[in-house]
Amino acid sequence: MSPLPCVPSAQSGKQARGLHVITWGCQMNVYDSARMTDVLRPLGYRAVDAPDDADMIILNTCHIRDRAAEKVFSELGRLRLVKEARAQAGHGTVLAVAGCVAQAEGREILARAPYVDIVLGPQTYHRLPEMVARAARAAGAVIETDFPVEQKFDFLPPEREVPAGGAAFLTIQEGCDKFCSFCVVPYTRGAEASRPVAAVLEEARRLVAHGVKEITLLGQNVNAYHGEGPDGAIWGLARLTAELADGIGVERIRYTTSHPRDMDGDLIAAHGDQPALMPFLHLPVQSGSDRVLAAMNRGHTAQEYRDLVTRLRAARPDLALSSDFIVGHPGETEDDFEQTMQLIRDVGFAQAYSFKYSPRPGTPASGAGGQVPEEVKDARLQKLQALLREQQDAFNAATVGQRVSVLFTGRGRKPGQVSGKSPYLQAVHVDGPDSLIGQVAEVDIVKLYTNSLGGVLTGETGKA
Ligand code: SAM
Ligand code: SF4
Repeated sequence: MSPLPCVPSAQSGKQARGLHVITWGCQMNVYDSARMTDVLRPLGYRAVDAPDDADMIILNTCHIRDRAAEKVFSELGRLRLVKEARAQAGHGTVLAVAGCVAQAEGREILARAPYVDIVLGPQTYHRLPEMVARAARAAGAVIETDFPVEQKFDFLPPEREVPAGGAAFLTIQEGCDKFCSFCVVPYTRGAEASRPVAAVLEEARRLVAHGVKEITLLGQNVNAYHGEGPDGAIWGLARLTAELADGIGVERIRYTTSHPRDMDGDLIAAHGDQPALMPFLHLPVQSGSDRVLAAMNRGHTAQEYRDLVTRLRAARPDLALSSDFIVGHPGETEDDFEQTMQLIRDVGFAQAYSFKYSPRPGTPASGAGGQVPEEVKDARLQKLQALLREQQDAFNAATVGQRVSVLFTGRGRKPGQVSGKSPYLQAVHVDGPDSLIGQVAEVDIVKLYTNSLGGVLTGETGKA
């Protein structure tokens, strides 16, 4: 192994060390990467933009689709060169692989990439300081992919670096017990668990105190949230969002990802009753065919999904919907696929994510009969994406001429521009000062771009 940097003590906490985190995958990984940075801050680590300047590099991985492990090995090959070049210049580099690929393929990573110092799963990153210290001492790599008995959230530092731009993620729930036929999450993230209400409120309170206006609550099945409340009762998501808005003062609240089965009456009603809940919901359906939904073990029918959407829109008529679709699940016929197309036409989506089914090792669908040929999946995906694109364009076009409140999260691409998000999660650009970043302001939408909208400021600020 090449030399590792000495580990400054938590007490000294002064010696600055570069930390470069590369994040792949979902918002939960984005949140985890930020929290790993928080965990390492007392050791003197500070984020740096280039891996060449980093005393520690973390590759936070995603295992959900497509040759995930191969991508990791190819990136590790690149990082090995960085590590070697730094070693020649007399600098040590701790190379860590985190996230779901690390969880699923930890041993394989160490066998194929022995220059990796630390392999850690998503549930163990609160132990990073100890792992770094062990890596500095040990002659071999450190691997931590057990599901620990302690909840990592109880061991994370209460202070977190607040992202600029007034919007932040906050993980409230992790893991999944639903075991969809195609999905690795129950194996890599473990069983479903919810953070206690008090911990969520405390983290939100700190974010709001630092100027955060919009919080996106995260979970693999966020609407399955059932956290223990300070009153000893179990709180569902609707009660939590009400308290975040009224008790803590969060102006805009989103949550993702939801499962149709966990969309209860309280949460549906909350979309009508709680103005802080943004009128945009990501509600994955995966397929419009009951046969495929059953094979996927999703636990609902296409009609139940349609009925759910009807109830949601009755509560909040301007609710914009997003979804996930998988084409080419084992056994999917042309007729099944056509039923998915029909569901899309019936529901109408403001945006959506769609994927070709990708066999994940160890999941039931990967060994099932009736695997669909790649070229058939390609053709179906193209058709489906064309329809979804049409719907997205129509939804965005319909916003032109409307007045919407925008949370400005950063500079735009052009000088003098600032950009942000509408309540419907559309990207909006206006000409305006940097002082708007982190603020909510009213905007008249005047122009449609390919993936965003152009607007003009009305001069009104402060509305969610
Ligand atoms: N819990 C969420 C739900 O039940 O809808 C989804 C979480 S999953 C991390 C995100 C999305 O990745 C899924 O909704 C699904 O569309 C997609 N996905 C998961 N496994 C997949 C696979 N093996 N092949 C293709 N897409 C997959
Ligand atoms: Fe994966 Fe979502 Fe199904 Fe859980 S509910 S197994 S996270 S797709």
